[in-house]
Amino acid sequence: MLNVSDLTMEFGGLKALSNVDLSILQGEIHGLIGPNGSGKTTLINVITGFYYPTRGKIALSQKNITAVPPYIVARLGLVRTFQNINLFPEMTVLENVLTGHFLHTTPSLLSVLLGLPVYKIKEQKTLELGKELLNFVGLYELKNMKAKNLPYGKQRILEIARALMTLPKFLILDEPVAGMNDQESDMVSNLIRKLRDNRGITILLIEHHMRFVMNLCEKLTVLSAGKVLARGKPDEIQRDQEVISVYLGTGRGNNAKNK
Ligand code: ADP
Ligand code: MG
Repeated sequence: MLNVSDLTMEFGGLKALSNVDLSILQGEIHGLIGPNGSGKTTLINVITGFYYPTRGKIALSQKNITAVPPYIVARLGLVRTFQNINLFPEMTVLENVLTGHFLHTTPSLLSVLLGLPVYKIKEQKTLELGKELLNFVGLYELKNMKAKNLPYGKQRILEIARALMTLPKFLILDEPVAGMNDQESDMVSNLIRKLRDNRGITILLIEHHMRFVMNLCEKLTVLSAGKVLARGKPDEIQRDQEVISVYLGTGRGNNAKNK
């Protein structure tokens, strides 16, 4: 479904990614791990068209999407969430989900919001899909609550629901359980599995929480200093001496190991 080959991304003199190869099969739950600053978010930014790569190629279902802008990538079925919460705090839960209808697929969200207030996009089909998705993620009962009043874990789940409004076939999640307690991260874990099992969505997720990653993902790619250090199944990665030494050498990795 996704094929990244020989991808390099330089910022000035800094090589954030060096010759990265990554292949993800349809229906896979794939984890991208690595210490802080190893290039995980940059890789997602390049894949989704937020950055133009220095070198390399990205294909989605065999279609070349290298340097295609994010809203077109989204129309092709690939949507991402962000590392930090990115909701409209004063809008209700339902309104936030409805904005996903064009948030990911329109060049400028602001122009859409200015020209087309949210109450106007509540046409029946969109509204029904929004409610269906809230039901799917377990937030339907809270649909009229302001987003800012949701507990943290549910805000992150709402972001996932909003990303689903464009009916993606491929979803990329940047640290979906960062800052969550065990109960919240179990909820997200179940939701991600359900997205794949019930809706057939292929998943790429970045995460530091090791128990979460190892239980949920079928394949892992490990980045270190912008390079692919290892790839394989979770049990293979956990035994990989190079991966162990890179993780033990960093504060962030250390924390992750202890979780
Ligand atoms: P991770 O998500 O694995 O923590 P990042 O992809 O955010 O790592 O960062 C990888 C490296 O690229 C870091 O050294 C970071 O400072 C650098 N970097 C990321 N984005 C930019 C940017 N827009 N401009 C310059 N340097 C950047
Ligand atoms: Mg990051």
